[in-house]
Amino acid sequence: MTEAAARTNLLDLDRAGLERFFAETLGEKRFRAHQVMKWIYHQHVTDFSQMTDVGKALRAKLETHAEIRPPSVQFDKPSADGTHKWLLGMDAGNAIETVFIPDKGRGTLCVSSQVGCGLNCQFCSTATQGFNRNLSTAEIIGQVWVASRHLGNRAHVHRKLTNVVMMGMGEPLLNFDNVVRAMSLMRDDLGFGLANKRVTLSTAGLVPMIDRLGAESDVALAVSLHAPNDELRTQLVPLNRKYPIAELMAACVRYLRQRRKGESITFEYTLMKGVNDDPATARELARLMRRFCNEVQYADAAKVNLIPFNPFPGTRFERSDEATIRAFQKILLDAGVLTMVRRTRGDDIDAACGQLKGQVMDRTRRQAEFRKKLEREGLSHEAA
Ligand code: SAH
Repeated sequence: MTEAAARTNLLDLDRAGLERFFAETLGEKRFRAHQVMKWIYHQHVTDFSQMTDVGKALRAKLETHAEIRPPSVQFDKPSADGTHKWLLGMDAGNAIETVFIPDKGRGTLCVSSQVGCGLNCQFCSTATQGFNRNLSTAEIIGQVWVASRHLGNRAHVHRKLTNVVMMGMGEPLLNFDNVVRAMSLMRDDLGFGLANKRVTLSTAGLVPMIDRLGAESDVALAVSLHAPNDELRTQLVPLNRKYPIAELMAACVRYLRQRRKGESITFEYTLMKGVNDDPATARELARLMRRFCNEVQYADAAKVNLIPFNPFPGTRFERSDEATIRAFQKILLDAGVLTMVRRTRGDDIDAACGQLKGQVMDRTRRQAEFRKKLEREGLSHEAA
């Protein structure tokens, strides 16, 4: 293996990993790792020679064993409403999207966790791309790095970048370790310093992984619900067949029981005309949410986020009418359920929820290559 190939991308390591790398690979003290983290995440420096408080000898060791390689920006597109979208190049022609959404006093970055997605939710454009692979920690935290460099050093201190939502392409709980490591860098003071509650992981409902997240991390949880009963939800979110609503809600109860009192779970609900937007369905959703709040014994344990459907080419769904959306919200509010309607942002640059597509390399070719790799390594059933 060449030296270059053996270099560790420091963006792949969280604080604990970096400390280990400094101790074990470089034979250096932990505080050196902390100095380098500040250069990377507070100053956006990728060149060791610019790290002026790091001694020459250590800089030379770093050049040999490490690199700081953020994803490359393929293009960069501002929207009329202040939203900003980046297309970031990954390996092998793949690209993923990251979206920044500024709002009064806060700025939210929507981060991707996979190239494509394998869950096949019927109303989401990422699903039409298929699944290629998980993103590495460097590729996930690299999205925040690119946005924060664009916004200026210490963007979180200046309240430009205040929130991250793992609501871009992919299912974050299917890329658990890399996502948890990246979320730890988002919240680390030597990283992006975001408050725990301002980093949100959104899932289509992988029950066992929700439990694992509750045990291993401390972030806010959002659950993509989209329907209050199994019959409808299974049509929209095929994963519901494996983890039906009762099991999902029970996992949400367990998740909140592990958190501090007063925390809530956001339930996302994409409103589609004539599909899940009628008053009876709203009442059924309200009952489900009330039952959940009763179980965790906190009246505001559920927040419902209504998302008017964003269309994309080839979809059979349509956005609900404004009056229908308001009526749906009112039923929930009247039942005492905190309910917001998410204002659509960035749709002029296809950066709105469910419009992210990136560029996912052809799956068939990838699968053929994967089979060849297995054969080479003597792991293929066919070769045996
Ligand atoms: N896989 C995770 C993370 C992706 S976030 C999850 O399912 O939660 C996806 C969010 O985008 C979903 O909550 C959904 O509400 C929203 N979404 C997907 N497609 C959409 C569309 N076409 N219009 C509006 N919202 C959409």
